[in-house]
Amino acid sequence: MEEEKTVTCWICGQSGDSKEHMIKATDIKSVFPTLTQKNPVWFHSDEKVNIPVGSHKSDRFKFNNPICEVCNTNRTAQHDKSWEKVSAHLKQYDLEVRGTLNIRLAKIFRDKIYTNALNVHLYFIKLFGCRIVESEIPIDTSTFSDSIMTNTPNPYLFLRFKKAIGSREKMLSLSPVHIKQKGSETVVAAWMYTVGQINVELLYAPSGACNDFLKKSFNPIHQYKVLRVYDFETEDI
Ligand SMILES: [Zn+2]
Repeated sequence: MEEEKTVTCWICGQSGDSKEHMIKATDIKSVFPTLTQKNPVWFHSDEKVNIPVGSHKSDRFKFNNPICEVCNTNRTAQHDKSWEKVSAHLKQYDLEVRGTLNIRLAKIFRDKIYTNALNVHLYFIKLFGCRIVESEIPIDTSTFSDSIMTNTPNPYLFLRFKKAIGSREKMLSLSPVHIKQKGSETVVAAWMYTVGQINVELLYAPSGACNDFLKKSFNPIHQYKVLRVYDFETEDI
């Protein structure tokens, strides 16, 4: 049997050769503007902790499983940019102040509010899909790739923004993906992306049972005009 050398891009099915950042380079720079080998960031993931990284471009910040160049650039560049703007905007708030912060997306984006909200949603779908594929987590990524390929919101993936505990700490992290299964089927999954003062929780609920709680989360199907940033202690699903 011939050995397959190329990896298939989980988004479009073409061969993959481009590595996606686990944490966006601009997010890394916003928390750690100057990174050097002598002044590294300490990187934690569910596989490893306390890894010194001395460059924003380090492969340590990238997923091992590549996607294709088209998906990593042309197809998703706008998604990345929309998140970049939201992330930069969130830095101006004092998140030590308690209570839910309601930010109208119109304050961040002058126009195309829906498109930009969708872009943010799709940006995190790309990250989550890369994470699932890399760690062989039992979640079907086909609805994620459909959403990216057709530029449409995914009904099963919700975002929740929260203030990080000890938000004055400089922090970049990816949590483990927590899943709940019934038999071999994953019925709920949760993952968290932390950049500086913000936790972005990704909640995956494929059963279609979108309860009121999830509807308050960020998904362009239900709500896209206001981005809510909750206190860390907000109840869980
Ligand atoms: Zn692709």
